[in-house]
Parts: sequence; C-alpha cells; structure tokens
Amino acid sequence: MTESDDDRRLSADGDTVAAAQTALIEWYEADHRDFPWRETDDPYAILVSEVMSQQTQLDRVVEAWAAFLEKWPTVDSLAAAARSDVVAFWSAHSLGYNNRAKYLHEAAGQVVGDHDGEFPESPTELQALMGVGPYTANAVASFAFNNGDAVVDTNVKRVLYRAFDVPDDDAAFEAAANELMPTNRSRVWNNAIMELGATACGKTPDCDMAGCPWRTWCSAYDSGDFTAPDVPTQPRFEGSRRQFRGRVIRLLGEHNALELDTLGHRIRVDYTPDGEYGREWLRELVSDLAGDGLVTVTESDETTVVRLKS
Ligand code: SF4
Repeated sequence: MTESDDDRRLSADGDTVAAAQTALIEWYEADHRDFPWRETDDPYAILVSEVMSQQTQLDRVVEAWAAFLEKWPTVDSLAAAARSDVVAFWSAHSLGYNNRAKYLHEAAGQVVGDHDGEFPESPTELQALMGVGPYTANAVASFAFNNGDAVVDTNVKRVLYRAFDVPDDDAAFEAAANELMPTNRSRVWNNAIMELGATACGKTPDCDMAGCPWRTWCSAYDSGDFTAPDVPTQPRFEGSRRQFRGRVIRLLGEHNALELDTLGHRIRVDYTPDGEYGREWLRELVSDLAGDGLVTVTESDETTVVRLKS
C-alpha cells in the first residue's frame, strides 16, 4: 500500500467502525423523516422519486410522485404512455428540465423492451438506462434491491469529513464510505447516512439537539471545527452553546483552572481573543456557567482565570 492509499483510509479502527455502524442504524430506525418512497422497494417507484428529487424540493416531490404513480402506476404503463403526456405532467408540476421526463419515459421503454419489464438489479446495469447516472443507479440498487454501493453525495461527504477526518478528495470519500457501510445493508445504511447529513449534520450542524449518534467519535464535535468541503467558514450556530459549555466543564475537570485565552484555544479552533469567537464570547459563556454555580471566574490584573467550582 502506498502512503497516499494509506492516507485515504478511514481514520477509525475496526471496533469504532462496528460501533459507529450500529449507532447510526439504531438512530435512523428510531426516528426519521417519512417519505413515501422509503416505504416501498418497487424499483420503478424509487426511480421516479430519484429523478424527481434531482431538481425539486422533497416536500414538493411527495405530491408530484403520488400523482405520477396514480397516472402511470407501473413501468409498463409509463412505457405505453405518450411522451408528450409525460412531458406535460412534468411541466405542470414544475419538476425541472423536461429532458428528465423524456429520459424517464425512454428508460421505462428500455426496461419493458430489453428486460421483459423487470428492472436490472446492479448499479452497472441500471446505469445503462437512459438518463440514469451513477448516483441514481446506486440509489435504485440500494433502496429497491439492497444491492448498492455506499452513496456519496454532498451530505455524505460533509459527514465523513467532519466525523472521521476523511480528506476532501473524491476517491477518499468513496473508499471511506464503502469501508463504513456494513456488508449487504446498503438500503438502510444509505438512507441512514443521508438522513444524518440532511438533518443532524447539515451545513449548520445540530449535533446535540438531533442526538447525533456519532458524537462519541466525531472529530469536529471534539475540536469545535465544523468547516467542511461545502462549508468553508465556521458556521454560526446558536444550538452549539450547550456543546461549548460541556467542553469547558470537561476541560476544567482535567485541569481544574485555566486562563481565559488558554481555555478559549482549547475549546474551539477558531478562537481568537479579539475575534467573533473570542474573549467577549467566552466571558459570556463562562459567566453563564458561573451563574449556574458550575465555575468561578477570577479577574486579577490582566488575567482571567476560570475554575471548576468545588
Ligand atoms: S457530531 Fe455533529 S459534526 Fe459530528 S457527525 Fe454528528 S452532527 Fe456531524
């Protein structure tokens, strides 16, 4: 293995990977957003939802998807439809480029004509259908047949970058995503990791409130640096205050007393004494903690020392 191959491996050992897999699947299964296409394993219905979702917000797709399936409930019925009707439906529901409607119609014709009406099950075969790229093929293989590779989209990249320090490199993301995915569980896994990226680990993360199952291992949660390939500057997020309070208490538990700036640099990577997340921000945080009886703050000359209250 070359050094660069080695660099691309996930920075987590086997036990961590296994624990992270279980934690994420349990988190997803306990609660997730309900989309009707998550309730089916019909490849046709899933393909329609994937093509519609490419350019349209998911809440609007729900209605269009149901109407589309009511009109053309099977791949055979879509293949037999007039292309102009499919395009007209697409426009009427503001689903984006009409070419997608044409390709979907064409793909239905391929399934009926070339595969006797049965969808192929592998990502490679699915990609041979008109308008079906690698992402869509993999999504259909995963959600319909539990037969996909790990999905790598912007949300998944953000999660992997933050949680496991995967470098910003497509090959590295793909390798790490596949290393993390439990064998033969692409259906639940891809749903779960995309849900994590879309809800808890959005551009502005919501680690605590969303009960992120990866807080134990997450590098960003530990360092306070939540930048990501699609989030080049530290996001503003009010919800993290609790997180920084927790970090102050944890550090003071280890060191008993720390000078204000030392504490600041230890709890967040973007701490600069005079910056947005600097002394003023930290003084407010520790004075809240002092108000709650958790710490004491001592000012002497030019020095401020924060101590855990015994
Ligand atoms: S702990 Fe926060 S930053 Fe880390 S993976 Fe979870 S939501 Fe994302």
